[in-house]
Amino acid sequence: MEIRIEKTGDPRQKPSDESKLGFGTYFTDHMFMMNYDEGQGWHDPRIVPYGPIELEPSAMCLHYAQEVFEGMKAYKAKDGRILLFRPEKNMQRLNSSNDRLCIPFIDEDFGVEAVKALVEIDRDWIPTSEGTSLYIRPFIFAMDPQVGVHPAKHLLFMIILSPVGAYYPEGLNPIKIYVENNYVRSVYGGMGYTKTGGNYASSLKAQAESEKIGFTQVLWLDGIERKYIEEVGTMNVFFALDGEIVTPELSGSILPGVTRMSVIDMLKSWGYNVTERKISIEEVAEAARDGRLLEAFGTGTAAVISPIGLLKNGQDEIVINNGKIGDIAQRLYDTLTGIQWGELPDEFGWTVAL
Ligand SMILES: *Cc1c(COP(=O)(O)O)cnc(C)c1O
Repeated sequence: MEIRIEKTGDPRQKPSDESKLGFGTYFTDHMFMMNYDEGQGWHDPRIVPYGPIELEPSAMCLHYAQEVFEGMKAYKAKDGRILLFRPEKNMQRLNSSNDRLCIPFIDEDFGVEAVKALVEIDRDWIPTSEGTSLYIRPFIFAMDPQVGVHPAKHLLFMIILSPVGAYYPEGLNPIKIYVENNYVRSVYGGMGYTKTGGNYASSLKAQAESEKIGFTQVLWLDGIERKYIEEVGTMNVFFALDGEIVTPELSGSILPGVTRMSVIDMLKSWGYNVTERKISIEEVAEAARDGRLLEAFGTGTAAVISPIGLLKNGQDEIVINNGKIGDIAQRLYDTLTGIQWGELPDEFGWTVAL
């Protein structure tokens, strides 16, 4: 399919201070759109000036949340190349989310092409200071003007771009995490393994309550036994125990992170014993008491690697590595960002240049 391109005649002001970009507040000059209509399939892919879109108030996405999204980044390397990180994995996951939410599949190769075409047009928006990048947000939502509950016959696939700042302007800072014993994010059989707005809507209250008492994010436990660790807010989670690095297995309620997958491969290539298995919060607390819990960290596109310095579980405070960043988390962060920014050899073949 040919992407029709309509360039803006009125380019927007780019943020002048890259140290104040933050996350997801600025958007570039253009956006990608493609419609789905039953009988026609996906059609009319186009890149148009960024701006508001029209929706009927009855549009189904607004009522029943038939919506999926992805999150990935483009980086400007020092040699001028623009790099994407494993974009095909994001498109595969988008289709896995599509499947769960009765959204018609997209052609994954075409999805990557659409991302490349849009990033190319707005390449001047990619920030260049250390740690910054261009966040890429593909999303699909139901447009049918109908408040009956059924899978949509009319959908829109869009991609928007946002220059984002360094997640850690002062270096990697360990975060404080609240172990959530009241609310749950998802259960087996639900949508936990998909990237869909509904999972985030249901997480807002726990997130807000934990922030109020001084925590960055919550650690979710499984929805059935309230025992086994699932993930953290927008990140998968790893625990470095003496002799074993554990991450919760993909049980159906956990988001299969691209960063998680990449971290597992990197750790294995460095000779670590990495296991994907059930791990209970009790096991982590016990390992901490016995001095066998060396490090804990989250992994995700936005933060890359986020060391965890403290876990609050009921009355119990689990301090990890004296609240300081550990060697494994630091090495993972340095290596992964080095590959993403084209500064280290890409031994795994993960980066894709535009
Ligand atoms: C996106 C996301 C992650 C991280 O996935 P990456 O592909 O590594 O960015 C983890 N958990 C949740 C709930 C997410 O939405």
